[in-house]
Amino acid sequence: MTAILHRQPSQPLPLAVAGDGPYLIDSNNKRYLDASGGAAVSCLGHSHKAVVEAIKAQLDQLPYAHTGFFANQPSEDLAAHLTARAPGDLNKVYFVSGGSEANETAMKLARQYFYEKGEPQRRHFIARRQSYHGNTLGALSIGGNPGRRAVYEPILLPANHVSPCYPYREQPAEESEEAYAQRLADELDAKIRELGPETVIAFVAETVVGATLGAVEPVPGYFRKIREVCDRHGILLILDEIMSGMGRTGCLFACEEDGVAPDLLTCAKGLGAGYQPIGACLLSDRIHDTIVGGSGAFQHGFTYIGHATACAGALEVQRTIEREGLLENVQTQGAKLRQGLEARFGNHPHIGDIRGRGLFLGIELVQDRATKQPFAPAHKLFARIKAKAMEHGLMCYPNGGTRNGQDGDHILLAPPFIIGAQQVQEIQDRLEAAIQDALKEIGAGA
Ligand code: PLP
Repeated sequence: MTAILHRQPSQPLPLAVAGDGPYLIDSNNKRYLDASGGAAVSCLGHSHKAVVEAIKAQLDQLPYAHTGFFANQPSEDLAAHLTARAPGDLNKVYFVSGGSEANETAMKLARQYFYEKGEPQRRHFIARRQSYHGNTLGALSIGGNPGRRAVYEPILLPANHVSPCYPYREQPAEESEEAYAQRLADELDAKIRELGPETVIAFVAETVVGATLGAVEPVPGYFRKIREVCDRHGILLILDEIMSGMGRTGCLFACEEDGVAPDLLTCAKGLGAGYQPIGACLLSDRIHDTIVGGSGAFQHGFTYIGHATACAGALEVQRTIEREGLLENVQTQGAKLRQGLEARFGNHPHIGDIRGRGLFLGIELVQDRATKQPFAPAHKLFARIKAKAMEHGLMCYPNGGTRNGQDGDHILLAPPFIIGAQQVQEIQDRLEAAIQDALKEIGAGA
């Protein structure tokens, strides 16, 4: 018997008892290769000595001091580390305990910025369908995932959604990348005009879409055009890099590759790599100076903002990524894994698309490759693949509703940055076995 309300109360879970690099070990001594970092969290694997030591040292020194009374050195150092590397003028940071809190913070900073500027009529956020920004009510309100929203719909904030940049399904073969990016930028422009530009606060998007679409990167030029639209109307651009940031794509900030700098950028997950719960919202000078030069303080706060031990752990994670050259390893192993997946699944009758950046890769499953028709949602193919993968000692992160929130299945891969050739091979072998077992169960086996 358990006293915990588990995520899936009817499905008993193995008990995790130890970690060994990219592997997790359960109470029966079974080893699981963590090919998804949980949910794109554990970028240094599960037993990184330097990070554990840094956390222990901070606990010995000072575990926590409330930020209403004191500053603390680890949070100052982590903020300096991040802002020195961040794009544009993202020169200030607000540390929270996870991704949803980071996005709530971004939404409130954006709103307060306009309030201080004397534009209190601004109230709308525009985000994209098939996005996920967190489960707190504000973040859920801007998210565009019908499944996660459905139960709470009547109590969510009014939301405005435009199309995601999802070339596999939404860019016709005859449309160029340039034309597709332009069409999406025009759609955002039209939505802003429909709402009234003077009422819009910000456009919010995941730089590379994670859980709801499965590692969907934008077409080249998309975010530059989006940035132009935002600037034209004087609205802010908020990039959610909670999954895709902190090195997962091979750049510390995923938007570096897209050549844009947002006004607010959120990160979490890989920031602390799971060793400590931590998230962050980076903000531009313009937003900081308007608030601090206006009323003088951000009307927000949580008990654990700037937590000393969480920041010390995250600082060592970030220093380790640089010391060990892990961004290069993400690029190298990511390219190898992608090549391996393409060689193995490129002609698979039920795999329609293989995509992503760095060690952030997605595979979309279809019943029919030619028509891109997904499997019937009643099969819950994604859940079967997850279960079969666990039987084969592999953690991956499949999800359903890929096409439109109702049907479609994909698998997200986000292995630790420390993997080598052996794990790249194991991921492919175990994933192939899991996919074949799951397809067989629904009568679609090869
Ligand atoms: N934003 C994105 C893109 C995410 O993937 C997630 C979590 O999966 C969140 C926000 C919410 O983060 P958290 O679960 O830490 O609150």
